Amino acid sequence: MPGRVDPEKGRVTLAVNLGWSDYALRDALEHELGRPVIIENDARAAAIGIHARGMAGASDDLAYLAVGTGIAAGVILEGRLHRGARGLAGEIGHAIAELDGPRCNCGQLGCLEAFASGPSIARRAAERGSDATTAVEVYAAAAAGDPVAGELIDDVGRRLAWAVHLLVMTYDVERVVVGGGVSHAGLQFETPLRRELARLRAASADAGELLPADIVDVLPPGSEAGAWGAVAVAWSADSSVTASEAVSPFRGATSASATTPGSGTEVGRSRLTAPCTVHRMDPSPAASERRSTEEES
Ligand SMILES: [Zn+2]
Repeated sequence: MPGRVDPEKGRVTLAVNLGWSDYALRDALEHELGRPVIIENDARAAAIGIHARGMAGASDDLAYLAVGTGIAAGVILEGRLHRGARGLAGEIGHAIAELDGPRCNCGQLGCLEAFASGPSIARRAAERGSDATTAVEVYAAAAAGDPVAGELIDDVGRRLAWAVHLLVMTYDVERVVVGGGVSHAGLQFETPLRRELARLRAASADAGELLPADIVDVLPPGSEAGAWGAVAVAWSADSSVTASEAVSPFRGATSASATTPGSGTEVGRSRLTAPCTVHRMDPSPAASERRSTEEES
């Protein structure tokens, strides 16, 4: 669920991109589906899925940064999802990226999301006179050499690198996994982000230590991190969810066979170990290009 949720009460407290507030989504879905439902934020669920399946290696301190219709992060610290006092930890899309910047859907001026989410990229392109009407078209225009689109995606990459930097400096995570629809633009997405991270690394000893070259992984399309997170959440909460029931809807699932739940919100990683790969950010442009071609095929 993209937005603020209260998993205990099963309510969406605020979802600015859907225009929902204080909505009893769990009750509504249970009524429709006739099954128990757990409500979780999508980025937080994806972080749980990435950790549970080892998509970012064996790290127990990682952040997932989702860049799509909105921008949000899920943070795993010492192997557990970090929620914060109000369950808002990771709402980095609404961190102020620029004083008096564009108006965000949340009402604030200058949120990161108002610069770098998919709809914001499209809006900013339109403001610059571009014909591109979606973020995908903006990235395609940049790839085709459109200087306006190129400048815009460079700006987006810089701002997302600052978000990675902020996550690392705030939470001291050792891995930041980037996903979401905008991140599927391949080389056009990765290169400006990587370039800015390299600049930050070179400019400060702190950043040099905390932002190593392999700090960021980009999830390939089809990773289903959010779906795997939903599996993990269901497992941790409900012993009636069997493994085959939980994994069968998802691609890449193999031989998970356990049927017993984990304790609390921690999920045994061994039960979610279907093969998966994360694309490392390779400094070679040729490698990135090859990768992005593979993703499309
Ligand atoms: Zn905002």
